[in-house]
Parts: sequence; structure tokens; C-alpha cells
Amino acid sequence: MQPKSNIVHLPVYQPGKPVEDVKRELGLTEVIKLASNENPFGCSERAKEAVIHEITNNASIYPDGASVELTKALATKLGVSTDSIIFGCGSDEVILMLARAFLVPGDETIMADQTFSVYKHNAEVENARVIEVPLKDGKHDLPAMLSRVTDRTKIVWVCNPNNPTGTIVTKDEFESFMSKVPSSVLVVLDEAYVEYVTEESFPDGIKLLSTYKNLIVLRTFSKIYGLASLRIGYGVGHPDVIRFINQVREPFNTSRVAQAAALAALEDAAFLDECRNRNSEGLAYLREQFDRMGLHYFDAHGNFIMFDAKLPSRDIFDALLRKGIISRAGWQYYPTYIRITVGSREENEKFIAALEQVLQEAAVLG
Ligand SMILES: *Cc1c(COP(=O)(O)O)cnc(C)c1O
Repeated sequence: MQPKSNIVHLPVYQPGKPVEDVKRELGLTEVIKLASNENPFGCSERAKEAVIHEITNNASIYPDGASVELTKALATKLGVSTDSIIFGCGSDEVILMLARAFLVPGDETIMADQTFSVYKHNAEVENARVIEVPLKDGKHDLPAMLSRVTDRTKIVWVCNPNNPTGTIVTKDEFESFMSKVPSSVLVVLDEAYVEYVTEESFPDGIKLLSTYKNLIVLRTFSKIYGLASLRIGYGVGHPDVIRFINQVREPFNTSRVAQAAALAALEDAAFLDECRNRNSEGLAYLREQFDRMGLHYFDAHGNFIMFDAKLPSRDIFDALLRKGIISRAGWQYYPTYIRITVGSREENEKFIAALEQVLQEAAVLG
């Protein structure tokens, strides 16, 4: 048997460590997972009711592959046409479908050198050439990314806010970039955390779609909507682009339960407002604490923040784990940085207490 030669060396995606594993391995009873940017407040009650209804009545029925009802509701909400939207099994799947539809071996694709790993992974599966452009102070360097565009460039990926650094590109920066990118290059603007952002200079990708046919915006129900386990996300773009993606889509790529939950969740604006407010409070608290401890952090706008522990991040990760906190470490270009999800107030306080202990113990030992 011979698999595609370009996939042989690919790493398997390393997810955040599950709570159950940590409890079992370390004999802990209380474990707080701040590793995967999940919503600490769960999801909307309306979404839960929709899930129960759907499971009770329709579990044996195939889903509507085109997600017609959900597409209508979302199109109305976003002010776009229904043929501008495609749903995926998480926006991860929209990324996969984009790579599948657009990239052939030898094509070039440009991304930041520390960003969401799924772009690179899928580009490599298609044997495209990945060009990584260093972040500048943790931010996308759009002029540098633009300078790497050639006539082989197919897709440029911009993650806003960027995962893992949490930084944003502003409206002015992004529009200036879009006005210079050749219209033959597809720009993917990943807005997985858009609903958390309160900064006024943040661009609204959806508004730019009418100007730029070569732009596609990705969003998800996994983050602020708190529906990560149900796997549903979407892309919004020009109908011609969406049609290409539809051509490689699996027939039933989102479940009935996910569609029903997403539809109900869309209607619960109060839940989103509450999560956004609590997240802003949590971010402010964490910034204050890092300042007090003299630790550098990036200017975070999502529901996570990345800080410099000033020691190898794997060691800090292990030490935090022994205290029941699951964080995220091992960033190739930031070996001493840890990414932490903003939790509930209680979780944030427990994390800071654990971090202080860990850094104190390290100072004593060091
Ligand atoms: C979490 C995340 C996604 C995808 O989430 P799904 O669960 O697949 O919808 C996409 N992009 C970024 C930057 C993310 O952090």
C-alpha cells in the first residue's frame, strides 16, 4: 500500500488534553480545562431544547444536506443572499473543503507563521507549498504577506483575531491589504472569535464581501455559541466561490441536531451578550494579573490570551497540569508562551493562583 507521499510526514492534530484523561492520569478530582477556547458558560438553553427535540423526533432521518432553514435564518441575520453561505462540520471542514477545491500540488498558499494549524495541515494534504510569514509583535504582517504573493499563489489565510496570539488586524490594515491583493487570489478571513471582539477598529468581514469577490469569511458555532461538540461552522462568500466549495462537500456534512441547535442559538442574542461581557471582564482580570506578575502578553481580543511564562512552556504546562489546570503550550515560534482560555471568574482565579505557585516553585528550584 502506498499513501500519498506528502501525507506520510504529517503530524496528527494534537487536541487540548481532555479533562477525564488528566483526572485519571494524575488522580485529581478537580480539573479545569482552559486549553481549547471552549465556552465556560455552556450554550443557550434554547439550543439545548432544540437538541432534545431533534433527537427525540428525528434521529433516524437524514439531515437536510443543504441546511436550507438554517441558511435562510443566517442569511437574513447577516444581510447576505442564501447562495453566499456554506455550512461545514465545524469551520474546520470549510477549511478542508477550501483546500480540496482550490489547491493542487505546487500551488502556493500564504499564512502567518503562528496561526491556526488547520490551514497548513490541509494545504499539505493537497501538496501545496505553504509560505509562512512571521508575525510582527504577535500580529499578522499583512504588507509582508502581500509581498510574498506570486502568480502561483492561490489562497492567503488571515485569522482575525489570530489563534493563538489573540491579536487583530484593524479595518484600515485589512482594507488596504484587500485593495492590493490580486483578484485571482482567494483571501480566507477566519473570524472564529468575531462575536467576542469589542474593539471598534475591528473589521466586519461580511461588509467587505460586496466589494471583494475573492474574499471568504469563516465563522463557527463552536466558540461563543458553545456548540463545539455538535460540529457546525460556516463560510460566507461570493456565490461563485461558494458553489465551488459545494461541489466538494459531503452530502450530509452537518447533522440535524447541529442544524437545529445552531438555528435556536442564532435567536438567543442575550446569551451571546452575557458571554461577551463576562469574557471582557475575564480578559481584563487576566491582563491585570499578568501586569502585576511582570509577564508579557499579547493584546488579546478573543476568549483566550497568550503570555510569556519566561520558562520552557512544556515545563509550565506540566506543572500547571499537576495542579489541575489544562493550558496550551508548545508553540513552535513562541517556546516560552502559554495560551490560556478565558474561563469563568472562579476558573480564572484558580488558574492565576496555580500559575503563581508554579512560577514560585520554578524560581526556588532554578
Ligand atoms: C476553533 C477554531 C476554528 C474552528 O472551529 P470548528 O469547531 O471547526 O468550527 C476555526 N478557526 C479558528 C481560528 C479556531 O480557533
